[in-house]
Amino acid sequence: MSKILCVLYPDPVDGFPPRYPRDGVPTIDRYESGGTLPTPQHIDFRPGELLGCVSGSLGLGRFLETSGHTLVVTSDKEGPDSVFERELADAEVVISQPFWPAYLTADRLARAKKLRLAITAGIGSDHVDLDEAAARGVTVAEVTDSNCISVAEHAAMQILALVRNFLPSHEWITRGGWNIADCVSRAYDLEGMQVGIVGAGRIGLALMRRLKPFGVPLHYMQRHPLQPEVARELGAKFHPSVESLAEACDVISIHCPLHPGTLRMFNDELIGRMKRGSYIVNTARAEICDRDAVVRALEGGRLAGYAGDVWFPQPPPPDHPWRTMPHQAMTPHVSGTTLSAQARYAAGTREILECWFEGRPIREEYLIIDGGKLAGVGASSYTLATGARA
Ligand code: NAD
Repeated sequence: MSKILCVLYPDPVDGFPPRYPRDGVPTIDRYESGGTLPTPQHIDFRPGELLGCVSGSLGLGRFLETSGHTLVVTSDKEGPDSVFERELADAEVVISQPFWPAYLTADRLARAKKLRLAITAGIGSDHVDLDEAAARGVTVAEVTDSNCISVAEHAAMQILALVRNFLPSHEWITRGGWNIADCVSRAYDLEGMQVGIVGAGRIGLALMRRLKPFGVPLHYMQRHPLQPEVARELGAKFHPSVESLAEACDVISIHCPLHPGTLRMFNDELIGRMKRGSYIVNTARAEICDRDAVVRALEGGRLAGYAGDVWFPQPPPPDHPWRTMPHQAMTPHVSGTTLSAQARYAAGTREILECWFEGRPIREEYLIIDGGKLAGVGASSYTLATGARA
């Protein structure tokens, strides 16, 4: 029997369960990308429940305990005295969400002698040292596709929030004002702006499809051009380099994974090539942008706005400069953990565990590292520090 260590975000401050504003969540038949939804044999939760916090336990409690496994659920994840550090030594499986990541550093992996499987309940496994996991034969899997539309919708919202100067306008009204000139001194239409996507994978492509009806010329940069019929449908221009994309666009939305090839891609030099008054939205990973370069660009006016929901570390300290920098529309890391998304990635996590314990293969598209190397979606989207792609 195995020990499963699950690191989840804390319960709501007003207690668990919360009072839900709606009854359930809409059901979908397929993912927009064409992929199939998770297919666990059974689930022990009602879609629409809060599953990503400690008391929600991803709906896994009954399944794991009746199977004889030990499930430890905690949000206490930092420092040598944390529950996570204490329990890691004999855990076979670690589950964590990118919103409250259990950082599996090389040092922690070295101490996790029994660890065989690290599951990301969601998408994005950069909180695991993938080189070290590969070297140690730890399988890394995530629930590919589960929250792509959730993130694409959030990115579209944040682009509009910045360009239309929504948050400062909202603040004027809650403060009792009607300061139209103050609100509109930074407000523009998105229509006609050149919008660029870095990483036209599942999320990037879904965002492009959502933005096309706004009448914006679309641009993108990634490793390979889109299939010609998709590029034609979107009228999207391929850029062979991020520099050329940066120079051409008014708005850039980032949707590539964090790996050695994308770390601090948006630094002083690249942001300096963007037009004065550009916008960046980053719902991918914080470290794709140089933290202090973003602050300098907002203060100096090179950027008119920055928004996103990803930070480093997570949670960020109270004095993290992105909390107070000007012209930002940041949220905590929430885009991929709507109640709708939780139902899908909790079901996907259950499917991965059922496969693991029954000795069945995990779906190829869920794999990031397997058999000591990049696999599945990991092979097409990540690089290892050693330079190996697959
Ligand atoms: P995906 O694998 O479908 O797409 C990623 C794309 O990025 C791929 O097409 C890949 O070729 C491209 N890419 C890789 N390296 C690149 C580079 N150097 N330059 C340009 N493009 C590059 O992944 P996805 O499902 O679209 O997710 C993308 C990322 O979004 C995830 O890795 C994760 O970090 C992030 N994400 C965030 C949230 C959230 O809640 N904010 C939720 C889900 C995913």
